[in-house]
Amino acid sequence: MNHTLESLRKELDRINFQLLNLIAQRGSIVKEIGEIKKKQSVNKFDPIRERKMLDQIIEHNKGPFSDDTVRHLFKQIFKASLELQQEEHHKTLLVSRKRRPLDTVVRIGDEEIGGNNDPIVIAGPCSVESEEQVRKVAQVLKQQGLIFLRGGAYKPRTSPYDFQGLGEQGLEILRKVADEFHLKVVSEIVNPANLNSSVEYVDVIQIGARNMQNFELLKAAGSVQIPVLLKRGLSATIEEFLFAAEYIVSRGNNQVILCERGIRTYEKWTRNTLDISAVPILKKESHLPVIVDISHSTGRRDILDAIAKAALAAGADGLMVETHPDPAVALSDANQQINLTTFRELMKEIDRYNRLNTVKSDG
Ligand code: PEP
Ligand code: MN
Repeated sequence: MNHTLESLRKELDRINFQLLNLIAQRGSIVKEIGEIKKKQSVNKFDPIRERKMLDQIIEHNKGPFSDDTVRHLFKQIFKASLELQQEEHHKTLLVSRKRRPLDTVVRIGDEEIGGNNDPIVIAGPCSVESEEQVRKVAQVLKQQGLIFLRGGAYKPRTSPYDFQGLGEQGLEILRKVADEFHLKVVSEIVNPANLNSSVEYVDVIQIGARNMQNFELLKAAGSVQIPVLLKRGLSATIEEFLFAAEYIVSRGNNQVILCERGIRTYEKWTRNTLDISAVPILKKESHLPVIVDISHSTGRRDILDAIAKAALAAGADGLMVETHPDPAVALSDANQQINLTTFRELMKEIDRYNRLNTVKSDG
């Protein structure tokens, strides 16, 4: 009995190797076909041919496997074969760390985000409301030694009756005030048609959560030579987020910063749920810098210290935070923006955390 089992197993091993050899042979032929198709610019996937092959195989099926099982097995082989024919970038994204093991460092003038650089903080009001409002914020940023001033000029609001932003006038205000204080402007663009002209005012183009899958906007952002801060969509998976970044990078602009800003879940005690695990996952899977928007991900002011530290501990290359001279009268996100005094305190707390960590890693 044991002797029979042993010899049957040997027989199985032999067949396994035969199958492997046959699959490998099939793979080599498929690759050759792929080369020919490439020269002839013919589409690699040919559903009519695939259907014909499957029909022929099923016709010859004499069991013991059911037709469905045989179909399933061969479809797997076809799928793997098609992958062999595909270009490298179809298999492994340009934004993937497998394609580029080194961190991408995003450069904005003399400033750098990502790589071994210290984490940066991007701060400013949710919306640009007036020159005076932006100047009050810019002054504090400057005092704090910060570089990146944010502010929304084109506001993608959930309700069409809410403040829609000052548009180009808002961008003009940002540029003017930022120049006074030698700051860099980060601002959202929502329409591909506005991209080229916005380059005049903006140092980093923000693509907001609601537009993460606005593919025309992504393509347009890939065609300009200015850094892009891409926010994760309201309900986007990490994979979808990386595909969105791929749209930009594959068009020629590799200066992309990923921003985790919370995703929609059933939890109601925060505005969104900060997916903190996305930070190390994105850093691992991709070479792009990753920052965390602590304002939109929480929608509340009372936990910002802890969330900022959590983001830095998770490996974020920076933070985004909304601050307003008088949040109570803000035209958007009045409940989550912090006033300038609280902002200074938050910065102190972040500095303390960073110093502590530097000492720890030095020691
Ligand atoms: C913003 O940062 O101004 C904004 C609208 O955020 P989000 O796109 O993440 O909602
Ligand atoms: Mn906001």
